[in-house]
Amino acid sequence: MCGIVGYTGRRQALDVLLKGLYTLEYRGYDSAGVAVQTPQGLRVVKTQGRMKTLDEKVHALGGLEGSCGIGHTRWATHGAPSDVNAHPHVSADGRFALVHNGIIENYLELREELQRDGFVFQSETDTETVVHLFQKLYCGDMVKTLTQVVARLRGGFALGVISSEKPGELVCVRRDNPLIVGFGEGENMIASDIPAILPVTRRYVVPGDEEIVHVTPQGVEFYSLSGERLTHTPQTVDWDVSSAEKGGYDHFMLKEIFEQPRAVRDTVSSRIRGGLPALEEYGLSDEMLRGVRNIHIVACGSALHAGLVGKAAIEKLARIPVLAQVASEFRYSDPIIGEGDLCIVISQSGETADTLAALREAKKRGARTLAICNVVSSSAAREADSVLYTWAGPEIAVATTKAYSAQLAALYLIAVRAALARGTMDEQTARRYCDDISSLPDKIETLLKTREQMSELARLYSDREDTFFLGRGVDYAAAQEASLKLKEISYVHSEAYAGGELKHGTISLIEEGTLVAALACDPALYEKIISNIKSVKARGASVVLVTNGNYEADGEMCDHVVHLPQCLPELSASLSIIPLQLFAYYIGVYRGCDIDKPRNLAKSVTVE
Ligand code: GLU
Repeated sequence: MCGIVGYTGRRQALDVLLKGLYTLEYRGYDSAGVAVQTPQGLRVVKTQGRMKTLDEKVHALGGLEGSCGIGHTRWATHGAPSDVNAHPHVSADGRFALVHNGIIENYLELREELQRDGFVFQSETDTETVVHLFQKLYCGDMVKTLTQVVARLRGGFALGVISSEKPGELVCVRRDNPLIVGFGEGENMIASDIPAILPVTRRYVVPGDEEIVHVTPQGVEFYSLSGERLTHTPQTVDWDVSSAEKGGYDHFMLKEIFEQPRAVRDTVSSRIRGGLPALEEYGLSDEMLRGVRNIHIVACGSALHAGLVGKAAIEKLARIPVLAQVASEFRYSDPIIGEGDLCIVISQSGETADTLAALREAKKRGARTLAICNVVSSSAAREADSVLYTWAGPEIAVATTKAYSAQLAALYLIAVRAALARGTMDEQTARRYCDDISSLPDKIETLLKTREQMSELARLYSDREDTFFLGRGVDYAAAQEASLKLKEISYVHSEAYAGGELKHGTISLIEEGTLVAALACDPALYEKIISNIKSVKARGASVVLVTNGNYEADGEMCDHVVHLPQCLPELSASLSIIPLQLFAYYIGVYRGCDIDKPRNLAKSVTVE
């Protein structure tokens, strides 16, 4: 994870770096730091804690004067969050400062080698090995040195380096980690994500893996590891900076919850043509879908939960066997996948390390690959055979909401198209499904009105230490996402259980006052889930029922009911999750949690 930023140009670098780092704080926030080429040489200010602490510290020291620098906001992997482990790290001779995102897998080996050479380490990080290695291999040329350094590193990373000897010069490189280069007028930037460059420019390039990038105020050069000069045409950011700002909401998460109607609408509207899903341009031709043997959906966290809903929809509608798998398990499981199979990877950032590795594994074994991701030109988007973007817009809150909803919508389209292609659904039914998918944004809009009800429920139950989410079928998949949301942002222990499974052990945890949120959105399963609810109610649970059925809070079966609009059962996860996102949000608020930056988490998980 971690956020990297670098600037060289005509402004005071410190201002640009700090502004950029604030926008990257979602990537990691246990410590932060900056290094600037000042008239007195390289100066570094870093600290444990949030960006605000760094901002205060650097200004208390009188700022840093200079127009070239690098900055970092950290999500620790090697070494505790502390001042000394914070980046930038500086070489033993003080000539080089370096920021790093990712993990250097052979750092112990390198550290021993460098210690034998006499280098003394200050920190526990893997990163510090790289800056000493840079000093050791330095040949007077930043590009050539970085090329030599990269050849010695294992693992995935993005690196940015400046030197006291090269005013205005910045070099960087990425391998399996995000990094962009922003093109301004007489000023240029590097950053882990687009919002950081927006105060300076909207034009950017995503360098290829292992390209060495040389940045000065006058220009940017790209080199392959063999020293060949490469060219790239900059792309232009086409969304507004306001999408990366809170716009009057207390938190990004709340803003993003409210952006869900638009995120789903944008994701589906151009993909439904003549009333039917049109997915040929995403590599999903009818011929391909007819021939596909198995589908593997591989993802992590909420994206996996979207995958579970997708699995249910594709299996039910198109009758294709679907396996939804945890990416970090799939990649090391010697997976049974190959020609004739379709591997769908889902990742908001398109940079999730385990998901990328799974994508490569599937590709290597001959499967066709499709990425569903939100960040344009991300690694998953570039490496998969085809990509279906979720048009959710930038998602800043660490806990996903709108990207998840957009992923669900994309998966429904695939399910319906596959069903049509394979003849398991007639055209008229497919149109009905598409109409229902197209109506989801309006229904989500209606559900956003449950805000007050959910805030009130959260107020009532914010003191509970355990919550159980129950559901069957698609409701079980949605329950898993609802449970994760609550854990992520409120730190309340919660579990999602398949309604019928509870009695096989877990029901022993239900006692007087335990909170149970039950989902009942499939009429075919109403009676079954109601029986499960009754059995927890009989054991003293407080029950919140989320349903599109005609149930009322009677105190017998449940204590509260959240009513949902009607939709086809396969699509119901798109609706049931909305009030439950709001519930998690308000529980987090009542418990005083840091909603947009939950403890121990980061947004784009670029480490294994
Ligand atoms: N491995 C580096 C550290 O622990 C960078 C961490 C990251 O990118 O998440 O400082």
